[in-house]
Amino acid sequence: MNSPGWLQLLVRWSLALALGLVVGLMIGAPAAGLAVVLAYGLAMQLLNLVRLLRWLQADQIELAPDLAGPWGVLVAMIVRLYRRKQFHKQRLLRLLRELRRSTAAMPDGVVVLNPQAEILWFNRTAARLLGFRGKGDVGLRIENLVRQPEFVRYVRGGEYAMPVIVRSAMSGEQHLSLQIVPYGAGQLLVLVRDVTREARLEAMRKDFVANASHELRSPLTVISGYLETISQDPDIDPALMAPLQEMRRQSQRMTGIVQDLLELSRLESSDGDAPMQPIDVAALMAQLRQDLLARRQHPARVQVAADSGALLLGEELQIHSAFANLVDNAAKYSPPDGAVQMRWWTDEEGGHFSVTDSGIGIAPEHIPRLTERFYRVDAGRSRATGGSGLGLAIVKHVLQRHGGQLSIESEESRGSRFTCHFPAERLRKTA
Ligand code: ADP
Repeated sequence: MNSPGWLQLLVRWSLALALGLVVGLMIGAPAAGLAVVLAYGLAMQLLNLVRLLRWLQADQIELAPDLAGPWGVLVAMIVRLYRRKQFHKQRLLRLLRELRRSTAAMPDGVVVLNPQAEILWFNRTAARLLGFRGKGDVGLRIENLVRQPEFVRYVRGGEYAMPVIVRSAMSGEQHLSLQIVPYGAGQLLVLVRDVTREARLEAMRKDFVANASHELRSPLTVISGYLETISQDPDIDPALMAPLQEMRRQSQRMTGIVQDLLELSRLESSDGDAPMQPIDVAALMAQLRQDLLARRQHPARVQVAADSGALLLGEELQIHSAFANLVDNAAKYSPPDGAVQMRWWTDEEGGHFSVTDSGIGIAPEHIPRLTERFYRVDAGRSRATGGSGLGLAIVKHVLQRHGGQLSIESEESRGSRFTCHFPAERLRKTA
């Protein structure tokens, strides 16, 4: 390397050694002359090294020693490296500060957790909504501070696709939506939102539906009663018979809708999981079969297959209503010469109840929406068969309360299969 520092050093050393040699020759000891010069040179190098080390130990870049030759180049390089590092550090710090400031100002709460669900950081909104006190809460497990059972179950469950709604511990009026978003190496982000307004609107909607259905029930009973009495009157004008029959049919339909709406409201207002009453599914299926065969119109074949003797643990009335709805649909949407089959079986995943029909089937685009209220593939046909469009919504709610799920398989003009899946905790094996 031929940098100016090296050249300068080489020239200096050569001159000094030459001078030492000349002086040594003059006094008759050339080796001593050279040794003195070498000793001086070495001492100077050591001195430079000591100054450099002192400077580095002091950690004050502005006090850089003023050294000549390669030592000066070395100092300049260290200064350059240091400044470059400082520049990047400042830039990163600025970025981090801006990021923190923006998340702190977010209207939603954010809590960062480590894989053990211990709090690493939270913003101001999260502290306000969840009642965190400050730095002292960092390092604590989040379940120790947010103790609502729904949330504790949610954190431990590990299934974070949907948020969980809880009442605030500080004000029971306030509703919070908490959603966990996993990121990085097992780290978790908790997003906290105040959903009090949405919860209040939802409660108003439920109350309205429940009250309206309740209020409609009594006038409907009166109208149906009078229509029944009038149509049985032997003196009635025969021309009125057809309209009277139609009025009776429509009032029965309305009664059906009101009953379904009331049942849905009841299901929605019952909090928590369904109780664990033991239900004999085989007996329930036999009864549903009998009820179906007792109808004036029913599919030609109604089969029952109880492949398991396990009891289902749930609320009997609700399970009865859900299964009856599925059987009713299978009968409604099947031709008179069709077949309906009910089956109950268990496996390692849990218990399953299916209703299969050989009816009209459902086009794939309708399947995801069938459990919405009032959703009907063919509204005209459903009305003609007395359908309210609420049956499958009821089934879905009942299953939710039992920790279960509904699956639907169907092929147009071949038939459908509706299966209720229950978790293994809802089963009791019989000997
Ligand atoms: P509805 O009272 O109209 O039967 P449901 O909520 O029970 O209401 O069902 C919603 C819609 O799903 C029905 O209108 C019908 O179009 C369709 N559906 C339900 N079950 C069947 C079935 N077994 N076969 C064909 N279509 C069905």
